[in-house]
Amino acid sequence: MRVLVTGGAGFLGSHLCDLLLNEGHEVIAMDNLITGNPDNIARHMSNPKFQFVHQDVSQFVYVEGNVDGILHFASPASPIDYLELPIQTLKVGALGTHNALGLAKAKGARIVLASSSEVYGDPLIHPQEESYWGNVNPIGPRGVYDEAKRFAEAMVMAYHRAHGVDTGIVRIFNTHGPRMRANDGRVVPTFIVQALAGEPMTVFGDGSQTRSFCYVTDLVRGIYKLLMSDEVNPVNIGNPTEMTIGKFAENVLELTESESSIVYKDLPQDDPKVRQPNIGRARQVLGWEPEVPLSEGLAHTVEYFKKVVAAK
Ligand code: UDP
Repeated sequence: MRVLVTGGAGFLGSHLCDLLLNEGHEVIAMDNLITGNPDNIARHMSNPKFQFVHQDVSQFVYVEGNVDGILHFASPASPIDYLELPIQTLKVGALGTHNALGLAKAKGARIVLASSSEVYGDPLIHPQEESYWGNVNPIGPRGVYDEAKRFAEAMVMAYHRAHGVDTGIVRIFNTHGPRMRANDGRVVPTFIVQALAGEPMTVFGDGSQTRSFCYVTDLVRGIYKLLMSDEVNPVNIGNPTEMTIGKFAENVLELTESESSIVYKDLPQDDPKVRQPNIGRARQVLGWEPEVPLSEGLAHTVEYFKKVVAAK
């Protein structure tokens, strides 16, 4: 297959490029590099099966030749990124998704949208299953991301229903691994970098809010299965191992053998109190489930950040 990955120089996008190339496909990575990093794809630059296009998918996109698959992964994706880039976040979810769908229609390609557990907002049912419509504040600071992803899902379904485009939607839960940015503000890089530097770890709120962390190789394997399937309805991909952020801080302290203290900061507005994927659909329609235990995945992520910190 010849596959376009929008956001191909980002954390998840670049891991998807690796997987697709490993599976023998041709890859076009498109990125405007506002949160992506060319280092993430540097190893592929001399590969004839790989092409990088420095372009913003929210502008008109043109891709020469056939395209069989599109993974639409372009978007600022960490809470501080989308707070700093609110309009770009809304544009890539809306205009970028429209452009990617237009391309899929023109090329007869299957397109998979990177959606998010954020479509469930601060969820009132737990764990979250795909049939839940969510609890989102449209005008809050996170609304720019949540509503962009919700609009993108609606647009994908409209192209499927009105134009018969072959579409899929993955709702991605918290994921970690090499190539996350040390300063993207998300809890995994933040805690690990703080612990390695012996600086206080910043727990927001009282640390009782929960998240469930998936290792990146598991996540991209699930997305690949979705691309290769003909599943239309949203599928949650994530690791259901749930823990409080307070407990997660303790885990990071242990793994890094750090003496860092813990300081408590205000909980950001609309920060979801709980989050855990129900992955019944992924098991059933894709035959997928995560294989990497949290301790093992986190050990890899810590090793990665040790190198990043040492290189500074
Ligand atoms: N968090 C924290 N300290 C930090 C960064 C994040 O306690 O320095 C908390 C945040 O309030 C949230 C959880 O960790 O409850 C996960 O945050 P993240 O930014 O990774 O992504 P989210 O899951 O909220 O999209």
